[in-house]
Amino acid sequence: MKELLVISGKGGTGKTSVTASFAALAKNAVFADCDVDAADLYLLFDIETIKKEEFYSGTEPAIIQDKCDQCSICYDLCKFDAIGKTLDSKGKVKFEVKPFSCEGCGVCIDNCPISAIKEMDRLCGHIYLSKTQYGTLSHAKLLPGGENSGKLVSAVRKQAHVFASEHGAEWLLIDGSPGIGCPVIASVTGVDRVLLVTEPTVSGIHDLERVFQLCKHFKVPIYVCVNKFDLNIKNTDWIKNYTIENNETWIGTIPYDNSVTDAQNLGIPVVNLPKSLAGESIKEMWAKIKTDTGEIK
Ligand code: SF4
Ligand code: SF4
Repeated sequence: MKELLVISGKGGTGKTSVTASFAALAKNAVFADCDVDAADLYLLFDIETIKKEEFYSGTEPAIIQDKCDQCSICYDLCKFDAIGKTLDSKGKVKFEVKPFSCEGCGVCIDNCPISAIKEMDRLCGHIYLSKTQYGTLSHAKLLPGGENSGKLVSAVRKQAHVFASEHGAEWLLIDGSPGIGCPVIASVTGVDRVLLVTEPTVSGIHDLERVFQLCKHFKVPIYVCVNKFDLNIKNTDWIKNYTIENNETWIGTIPYDNSVTDAQNLGIPVVNLPKSLAGESIKEMWAKIKTDTGEIK
């Protein structure tokens, strides 16, 4: 199985459109949406949930109401105004933790004189395995305020990997997070190739250099493509030269093309639109990647 990760230095460069198109073009593939903060790959597929599991990360305090004697110590000590004080139906004071305000510092737990606050695992979201018209998708949805660390990315990726291995998939295509933080590191480690999707802007170049160094650090071979290349040919040439000078693989360009937005509005990969210039460019890139990765076992 070949693992290809698609990432970018920042959001909005078109990486999900590229990943969804590769998914439509690949045969016998499993997909993972590791951009868990903005998981939108599923929007371009018809999905049917096969499996849904809860994802817990970190802890949060919970007040045991039957035990609490309303001394107010936790309320007075919390620096984040994360303990709410209300009156119940009988006019009795009630203290409750406000989950969106709580920073998990543990001061309330340590200072409750009668141990009426317990530490609970924090439910941050759900992990899904879904059937699509192109193959199976592993993805996640964070709850509002749910914390994303590399742990959720690793869980999504692991689920995809296990499913792909068990079903003899030829490809594992991963839509990664933007940036260079923990979620990206959790996506990059151990993949066969990374495709960096960037734009020919000054910030695009800056972000590209940072992600480039990250991939180099993990010794993962890199493909580079420039989306909307015709917005600035000079910067596109700079990125191409930078890629080649660093002994990595230049894989191609995608023109600025309104059909990408049309495809998003229709909820389909852009390669499925007839006469799409962007779609044709992505098909050429996929053909190059297939040829180049032919030797990966
Ligand atoms: S410190 Fe403990 S007993 Fe006092 S109000 Fe808070 S939870 Fe209740
Ligand atoms: S853990 Fe800290 S932030 Fe959260 S409610 Fe307790 S004292 Fe406040």
